[in-house]
Amino acid sequence: MKLINNVLSLFYPRLCAACGDALQQNETCLCLDCMLHLPETQFHKSHFNPLREIFDGRVPVEEVTALMSYKKANHVQKILHHLKYKGEKEIGSVLGEYLGGQLITEQRYQDIQFILPIPLHPKKKRKRGYNQSEWIAKGLSKGMGIPYLTDVLLRTRFTDTQTQKSRFARWQNVKEVFSLQNTEKIAYSHVLVCDDVLTTGATTEAAIRKLREIEGVRVSVATLAATTL
Ligand SMILES: [Zn+2]
Repeated sequence: MKLINNVLSLFYPRLCAACGDALQQNETCLCLDCMLHLPETQFHKSHFNPLREIFDGRVPVEEVTALMSYKKANHVQKILHHLKYKGEKEIGSVLGEYLGGQLITEQRYQDIQFILPIPLHPKKKRKRGYNQSEWIAKGLSKGMGIPYLTDVLLRTRFTDTQTQKSRFARWQNVKEVFSLQNTEKIAYSHVLVCDDVLTTGATTEAAIRKLREIEGVRVSVATLAATTL
């Protein structure tokens, strides 16, 4: 198997999703150098942080964090591009596990019982072949030692690409896109909603609002990256 891998990598070298260098055998998705130099926010270490402020006055939330800060043309942009558009879903589980390992060392994250990925609309998921947030959830689940659920929070309506819209337009657009089922599974629990990137927080806010319709649910948020820093 190792020989086959070696031969294959001669013809199809696996490349680091951030810097583009060839990966060593023991490296997955990102080279060691890039892993060591991720622009980490460390926001999970403080309850009051700039990401939490996004939700101030909008919706009650427990903890909010992102692994990395996203800036145009930095490695994070490349990493997320590979995760979303190049089929490299494993990046989600690698970085999710890395983040999960950090979260679980913080007391404020230790009573979280379930991880819920932000769902993609089924149409979009079929087109892409996977939901990147589900792969992040998979990694977080491994890193934190708790299950992730994909059958509670669902997407109901197709939304157009949101990049060109104002915050208000985005909010209008996502207001009713989530629905719930199997709500008894997470009643009276603390759940962690995860996604690839946090920008205006509109989508996340809509998901939190929906989840808070369930009796006794408290919601925290963790993403791989955040732009509003
Ligand atoms: Zn690299």
